Amino acid sequence: MNSKQFACRWVLKHQHKLKQAVRSCHLQVKHALGLEDYKTYEDDSQVTFKYSEMTTTFAEPHQLRSKPDVSELKFGQVFTDHMLKVFYHQALGGWQKPAIIPFENISLHPAAKVLHYAIELFEGLKAYRGIDGKVRVFRPDLNMRRMNLSAKGSGLPTFDGIELIKCMNRLVQVDQEWVPHTEGSSLYIRPTLIGIDGTLGVARSESALLYTILCPVGSYFDKTSNNSLSLLADPTYTRAWPGGCGDRKMGSNYGPTIRVQNKAAKKGCQQVLWLYGDDHQLTEVGTMNIFAFYVNERGDKILATPPLNGLILPGVTRQSIIELILEWGEIEIQQRTITMHEIITLQRENRLLELFGSGTACIVSPISSIEYMDTAIQIPTKEHANPLYQRVLDRLAAIQYGHIEHPWAMPIE
Ligand SMILES: *Cc1c(COP(=O)(O)O)cnc(C)c1O
Repeated sequence: MNSKQFACRWVLKHQHKLKQAVRSCHLQVKHALGLEDYKTYEDDSQVTFKYSEMTTTFAEPHQLRSKPDVSELKFGQVFTDHMLKVFYHQALGGWQKPAIIPFENISLHPAAKVLHYAIELFEGLKAYRGIDGKVRVFRPDLNMRRMNLSAKGSGLPTFDGIELIKCMNRLVQVDQEWVPHTEGSSLYIRPTLIGIDGTLGVARSESALLYTILCPVGSYFDKTSNNSLSLLADPTYTRAWPGGCGDRKMGSNYGPTIRVQNKAAKKGCQQVLWLYGDDHQLTEVGTMNIFAFYVNERGDKILATPPLNGLILPGVTRQSIIELILEWGEIEIQQRTITMHEIITLQRENRLLELFGSGTACIVSPISSIEYMDTAIQIPTKEHANPLYQRVLDRLAAIQYGHIEHPWAMPIE
């Protein structure tokens, strides 16, 4: 090989490092010249971490934890042996190399933005062990799209979702023994992105940490209940509002809901039905989307869910249910505003068939009652033969557990 060929090969091999060095140099020169930096995250949409650069450090035998009995498991209490970490430092050219490491605590500067201004977002998706033993992840591309939208809304860096899917798949593979073997249980995947700059200014993050942790889960809701929900609908509380960020999975949306959840619990209800506006529109149930199945005045069966108007988290399960119903073609699906007045009228006229919540954690959760303005409204969700919520749940489970091959379930090789 002559020296020119050698040089060219060297450049090809090291081009990513050169690019990082040039970018970092460019920033420093601009800074030295006092030029304003107009660089935004949109500009670095091609800038991402790469699965191909990921390193893996396996836990030592003494670090491995014993695996719990999943039937005993409460949601999110036990974590697996490894985690994924990727740092972002603007001063170092952006995203650093991803690393799978033994599960560990993270160390943060006490001024880290996440700790003061909740500059953080998260995602939730699941890996399922199929009847053929293969592990499949459900529609991770949709979670990646939503995660990048949340990042843009929080002044956090964006990345190529495909690269994170590949890194997370590898993490699940490393901890694959943790994917439960019983149908109904799964491995919950929690990607999280936090702003870690040690500066107190309320500003976009120049340093961030993206990490992913995994936990085996049984069922999300308390097994002692008969698995149908009682809700408190109190119009004095609001989860999201127009122009806000209720349609993003940002941590700041969840902390303020705890006091309302406590109030629901005091009244003997399991979850909060979030209302909005003077007409008491139904928006979400706890951290789930909501669906109402009813018969209209002409006798047609309709499945309705609130529209993605900014108040609603665009759930992957919600979208999947809408797509299934469209595919089945038997029931009309409507994305529109539903009010408490309408629910009461439908219920009174015996035209309300079912009310259910949808989300990755429980997939579909039937609702049996709503406590609203001091009256208890009974919902006959579980009083029908072959209810729609069960058909939807069965179909999604068949896809997730590999009973049917379907493009929504992505096998991990
Ligand atoms: C996560 C979440 C959902 C459900 O979204 P999925 O993608 O189906 O899990 C619904 N509402 C809220 C408020 C959520 O945080």
